[in-house]
Amino acid sequence: MIEIHDVHKSFGQLEVLKGIELTVDKGEVVTIIGGSGSGKSTLLTCINGLEPIASGRIVVDGTEVHAKSTDLNRLRRKIGIVFQQWNAFPHLTVLENVTLAPRKVLGMGKAEAEEIARTQLAHVGLGDKLATYPARLSGGQQQRMAIARALAMSPDYMLFDEVTSALDPQLVGEVLETLKMLAEEGMTMICVTHEMAFARDVSDRVAYFHKGVMAEIGVPDQIFGDPQHPETRKFLASVR
Ligand code: ATP
Ligand code: MG
Repeated sequence: MIEIHDVHKSFGQLEVLKGIELTVDKGEVVTIIGGSGSGKSTLLTCINGLEPIASGRIVVDGTEVHAKSTDLNRLRRKIGIVFQQWNAFPHLTVLENVTLAPRKVLGMGKAEAEEIARTQLAHVGLGDKLATYPARLSGGQQQRMAIARALAMSPDYMLFDEVTSALDPQLVGEVLETLKMLAEEGMTMICVTHEMAFARDVSDRVAYFHKGVMAEIGVPDQIFGDPQHPETRKFLASVR
């Protein structure tokens, strides 16, 4: 379970998270929508401890992320994160890219790491690209490789930050299908997305962020069919 209690965060004078409250249960899929600069990415980087917070608490399976005593490396193994773009190691094959973290971070042997990498790459539909170099992959395939790389660490949670935003439109679908598959398998996920149809289809709950505040959260039918906050209405009208 991810518990976010009254989290505030600023960059200099700019307060970008203004008292965020959110609990994500095991197996739940929460998507975050909202305008540019509303704090969506910042929240994800706070959840896995990449960024400090000013006040409040983020607790993952009972471990307080920003406590001094917390072993962040250990915590991050539980929480996979995939961004808009991931720069794979160009001189390593797809298989080698995906085995890297299990080997270096988990200290896994080569054979075991390759077994896991093969399984995860097949899972995201890249079973025939093991020996390919990243530059030879399409954007959609590169994103699926990034997802396989995160999954190879056997995370309990996955955070996705606009993983389709940098893709050509015809490549978006295959990546969203991969996320949907993970959701259906029961992965606990927080997805920041601009893809409203995806949010509606896959989420248990949808959160709308506006200027550092979670203005509204609800089931997809409510958020998209009967938004309560005027800013949610305005935003949805602008993206439709
Ligand atoms: P987008 O939809 O454009 O990705 P977002 O909702 O993800 O936007 P954030 O990236 O979380 O927004 O940024 C929130 C605010 O914090 C923005 O005003 C941004 O300029 C600012 N910001 C983000 N990261 C930093 C940083 N490292 N240093 C200073 N300001 C930052
Ligand atoms: Mg962002």
